[in-house]
This record gives sequence, C-alpha cells and structure tokens, in this order.
Amino acid sequence: MASLLLSLLYQLDQTQWLDEEALFFHQARQLQLLFGHVGNTVPFYQRRFAEAGLDPTAPVTRETLNRLPVLRRTDLQGAGNDINTTALPKSHGKIHEVETSGSTGRPVRLNASEVTNLFWRACVMREHLWQGRDLGGKLAAIRKARAGVAMPPHGAKSEFWGPASGSIYPTGSAVLLNVASSIADQVDWLQREEPDYLISFPSNLLALADYCQDGGIDLPSLRQIMTVGETVTLELRQKVQAVWSVPLVDSYSCQEAGYLAIQCPDSNGYHIQCENVLLEVLDEEGRACRPGEVGRVLITSLHNFATPLIRYEIGDYAEVGAPCACGRGLPVITRVLGRYRNRLVLPDGRKVFPTFGYHDEVRAITSKIRAFRYIQRSVEVIEKLMVVSHRLTNEEEQALRSLIVKNLGFDFKIVLSYHEKLSPDGSGKFEEFFSEVAG
Ligand SMILES: [Zn+2]
Repeated sequence: MASLLLSLLYQLDQTQWLDEEALFFHQARQLQLLFGHVGNTVPFYQRRFAEAGLDPTAPVTRETLNRLPVLRRTDLQGAGNDINTTALPKSHGKIHEVETSGSTGRPVRLNASEVTNLFWRACVMREHLWQGRDLGGKLAAIRKARAGVAMPPHGAKSEFWGPASGSIYPTGSAVLLNVASSIADQVDWLQREEPDYLISFPSNLLALADYCQDGGIDLPSLRQIMTVGETVTLELRQKVQAVWSVPLVDSYSCQEAGYLAIQCPDSNGYHIQCENVLLEVLDEEGRACRPGEVGRVLITSLHNFATPLIRYEIGDYAEVGAPCACGRGLPVITRVLGRYRNRLVLPDGRKVFPTFGYHDEVRAITSKIRAFRYIQRSVEVIEKLMVVSHRLTNEEEQALRSLIVKNLGFDFKIVLSYHEKLSPDGSGKFEEFFSEVAG
C-alpha cells in the first residue's frame, strides 16, 4: 500500500498542473475503460447505454456524457444489485460496502474496491501536502463517534494520524473526542491535549469559537483548523482567524465517491479532484455552468468499478470558479452551497440559499442565544429553534423576527421556540437551515 500510494502521489503531483483539456483527455480514456466495463458487467447501465443509443466501448467525448441520463439518489436506491458489477477486475482487489449516513432519509448503499480506497488515501495525503502540514504534529478530531465512545474527559487516542499518512510516514499522535460532548468539555479537552491541528464540523467550530471568544480562551498550540461535512461560511473563516489567529482549510468529499474538491493552498477556492472524479456543475437546463454561476453537482466516479456511479446527482449545489492564479489546471469551484434541503422555498415558488445575515445588529439579543437552527415548516412559516441563556423579552422577540424577515426579503411568519438542546442529524452534522418543503 505504501509504495502504491507514493507512486500515485507522484503522479498527482504532475497531473495537477495539466490544463483542463489535457485533464479531460485523460479522464475520457479512463471513462472509456469504465463504460466498457459497465457495458459488459452491469445490467443497470447496459439498459441505460442502450436507451441512450450509445456504444459503451466507443471513445468518450463530452457529447457522450451529455447524452447519458442523470443518476438520482432514488435510482441508486431502487436499482438493487443490478447496479453492481457481476465481475470486478481482479486488479481492483476486494469489494467492501459503503453506506451513506442518510441524513435526509433512506441511506444509500454501494460497493467500493481497494482501488477506490487507494484514491481516497492519495487525496487525503495530497490535502496534507497542499496545506503544508507537519505530519509530526498532533491531530485532534472532534467528530461523530458511536454513543458513549470517545467521550470526555479523555476521548480516544491513536499513535498515528490515519491509514493514509500512517502507512508512509511516521506521524505524530491523533486524538478524538465525540462531537456529542458539550462545548465546555471540548474546550477543556483541547486545552489539555494541545493539538497542532483540529478537524471538526463547521457548526461545531463556530460554537467553539464563540465560546472561546466569550471566555477569552486562547488555544496557542493550534496551527490550522480543518473542516469537513458541512458548508463553510465566510463568517466562520473570519471568526476562526479572529479568535485563534489560524487559517481554516476546507475540503469537499462524500461517502459515495471520496474527495471531490480540496481547498487551494493559495486561495479560498476548491480544486476539483479530476483524477478521482469527473465533476459537472449544471444549470436548470442541464448545461454546464460558467464561472460565477451556481448549479447542481453531478459526479462520475472514475475508479469505482464495483458500483459504478455515472453522472450521479450528489444533492449539492456549487458555484463554478475561474481558473486559479496558482497555476494548477484542476478546475475550481468557489463554494459549495449545500444541499437541496438547505434551499429556502419562496412564496413565488423560487428556491434560494437563504441569508440570515450577521447578528451584530441585534448583538444584545443574540448574545443570549447559545445555539440555533432554522427550519422552514411550510411555504409561509419558518421556525427558529433556540437554546438560550436567558429567555428573550417580547420586544427582543419582535426585533429578532423583523431582522429575519428583512434578511430573507419576504414576509414569512417567524415562529420562535425554546429548547434545552438541539440534536445533530444522524451523521452528526448540524445544519443551520433546512427546509421541509424544498424538493
Ligand atoms: Zn489554486
């Protein structure tokens, strides 16, 4: 594994500088192998290629891709074993099952191989290298773990960072705390462990940063914050910089296909991991978005020959960026806006990513709010669920409602509700907003 990883990393070091057309040339060659494979061994795609009038063994162009239908989550769930290969090439190693967390309902199950694992690990390493991390440092993770596991005060410990870095370099130690721990326990633990790097969910980091800011708590050992799993806002980047004086670096990945994009070491844009996936961002008419435009994300997993994902609609929206000044040819997305259910449905039927705005205008009120979440209950009603230190007065409630309506630009009915605690969803994530009516 170590030598395979090193050789793949060496290749990734070269390919990152190729221009977009050269990258597509190589992707198309890999797609031809993949399509030939599904044409022989995957009944689900045999039907799809036949219906599209496409020869799976023919050279692949952008036109070929455009003619293939989108694979929706429900298609994948409904396909059963028909979407799995009947014969995985021996060189792809053993098959293992992957299950997505299913935060919005039924989980997705698919198979992956040792080759997909290899690419996953190579992207993990590429990310460490791009972000210039000292692998001898200490890595702390505050993430989802099984109930009762990695709880405070001690969490869990490991002698090395993980299967990717640990297999090729001697690394420092890694420590883990269950994200179900209270923020106070998390801060105590971080102060004792003194990690160089901290990885967590954006919503948890925002709560941590608020807590440290309020208490004047510094974490001087920290050198970098890493994020996964949720949308990173500009507000969070600024807060992390202000409170701990360290940069925040993000990456965009999914259970189904591994790394999709990694933040550029020289900018806040994300470089698509073209060696692992072909990623398309499409507008409502199915055309490729241009820089500055937002569209839905489709991915084609280039190396998963076990459960091939071809034009799979992952459920996220992203904004396409212009080529990056760093010189890497890997195309850029400037931000990931979140999932369908993170869109607000307006009374006129349009769907937008809502802005709830910064809270400085009502600082006296928001300082009482320890945690919150917005849920759109119907086309007219948005509920703000809150955990507070002191209940808001009637005047404060009214001011808060007005601010929310002003930020959203529509006269929604705003319901405020008080709670002892807010629970993350099944994957341990905590979304600031989701809509029960966004389809
Ligand atoms: Zn760049």
